[in-house]
Amino acid sequence: MELRYNTKDEILAAHEELRRSFDSHITLDIEFRKHQLKQLSFLLKDNVDALADAIRKDLGRCRFETVFAEIMVTTNSAVEAHQNVDSWAKNESRWAGAVWAFHSPTVRKEPKGTVLVIGAWNYPISVQIGPMISAIAAGNTAILKPSEVAAHFASLLADLWPKYMDPRMTRVINGGVEETGQLLDLRWEHILYTGNGRVGKIVAEKAAQWLCPTTLELGGKSPVFVDESADLKITAHRILWAKSVNCGQTCIAPDYIICTPGVQSKLIKEFEIAYGEFWPNGPKSSPDYARIVNERQFGRLNNILETTKGSIVIGGERDASIKFMEPTILKDTPRGDISMSDEIFGPILPIITVKDMDEGCSFVNSRDQPLALYVFGNKKVTEEIARKTRSGALVQGDLMLHFCVESLPFGGTGPSGYSSLHGKAGFDTFSHARATMNAPASGILGWIVEKLMSPRYPPYTDGNLAKLSLLAGRKLPFKRPPQSYRGAPTGKMTRFFNSTTVLILFLAFLYRLYGGQALAFLLR
Ligand code: NAD
Repeated sequence: MELRYNTKDEILAAHEELRRSFDSHITLDIEFRKHQLKQLSFLLKDNVDALADAIRKDLGRCRFETVFAEIMVTTNSAVEAHQNVDSWAKNESRWAGAVWAFHSPTVRKEPKGTVLVIGAWNYPISVQIGPMISAIAAGNTAILKPSEVAAHFASLLADLWPKYMDPRMTRVINGGVEETGQLLDLRWEHILYTGNGRVGKIVAEKAAQWLCPTTLELGGKSPVFVDESADLKITAHRILWAKSVNCGQTCIAPDYIICTPGVQSKLIKEFEIAYGEFWPNGPKSSPDYARIVNERQFGRLNNILETTKGSIVIGGERDASIKFMEPTILKDTPRGDISMSDEIFGPILPIITVKDMDEGCSFVNSRDQPLALYVFGNKKVTEEIARKTRSGALVQGDLMLHFCVESLPFGGTGPSGYSSLHGKAGFDTFSHARATMNAPASGILGWIVEKLMSPRYPPYTDGNLAKLSLLAGRKLPFKRPPQSYRGAPTGKMTRFFNSTTVLILFLAFLYRLYGGQALAFLLR
């Protein structure tokens, strides 16, 4: 479909007007923010059919998945923000010891200013409207730039948004790469970008011209560890579901499986059973199974299946004319396989075999930190894997559901992104924690504080420095660590080296006094 892009002048005007209305302080009013959050909730509630229909046209995704994975989650997010914004926005007093009690150290939660949210196409409601909820709760004025790839959705949103939302606080601007580039050249107080890492770097570079803080919600290869202690029936059902929702085009979808060869063969059998249950007549004729978003993405995924050195054990069917690709599982995938080079972002699931979970951890650690890491296995195995790896999120026994839990921060680490969203974390991302002090500067309290703090004034003297240390300095509350082992851990190793050194010195002393006889006596 033809999506109407906003003109250069419209973009400049929207930016200018939002900056002006931020300066009018209208968004400082919490009740105003709450009203916008209510409006946003009703935008979602009133338009379920239209939203689901637009997404079906863009992604071939069924209504069930759109309602469950997007509308429900995003509505919950708006409700959570509406119910908690009063407490999130409250000033926080900080206790810093009696000496600062008169100065009332406080953190004020203030909106950053005018912010830009750039969204991706795969879950347009969650990743476009979702961050706007945080931006609104925090009291910013904001522009949302939907992805032009999901054009039906972007067009619908441009139509719905002004019917529900106050244009003094938020606007939707549509466009492609050129319009996004134009937006990125303007001045913002925060930019949130969701999408791939290549464009993430462009966004971060553009933001740097204004020293503008950014949140990058990127992707990556999220591994699934399957240990022999796991219930493989449940494991197979959950993995297959997570890989096939939205045709695998999910940032936190399982990207590949790590298991031993023994687990691999049992797991494949369970996948076959789950596959038959999910799509008794095959996914192609199922109304539940989505399509690949466009020809470019289809070509990329098709190339993986054409050139992989892994063996296709389930699926493999595809039809370019309708952008259909069957959920496909690859067995014994070599580590340097094409399917292991970049994030798959489609319904292909390679299995990598390892000697044990430890080897799996080393493999994961040799690559970029993923957005999510999943473990199927007992508590001990999970804890071990958690300790030895890094990722944006860690879920044991299931996949992707952490996205639904508003009280958990959602975000990546390293190349999977930085800073986080959802609930309070999202509010904090779009807020500035402004350090404030309210020092008494008149009256009797002002006089007392002035007396207490006047040793700071010149002419400086040792006596005044001593008074200040007494007043505001802190004594070290710990003992000096052993000099000879500076930098070494102070636990068992240090004790071991300490006692070993003492023993060696003692033996050397005996040898010096009594020669070899003493040692022969000790060793007898
Ligand atoms: P996309 O193509 O829709 O791009 C996202 C946005 O970037 C769009 O608004 C687009 O206009 C803009 N854009 C594209 N090229 C640009 C350029 N050269 N300069 C400036 N702006 C440009 O989305 P995509 O990148 O295909 O999205 C898929 C990726 O997003 C995957 O890697 C996925 O893992 C990631 N993702 C991450 C999350 C998350 O929350 N971490 C959520 C969804 C998707």
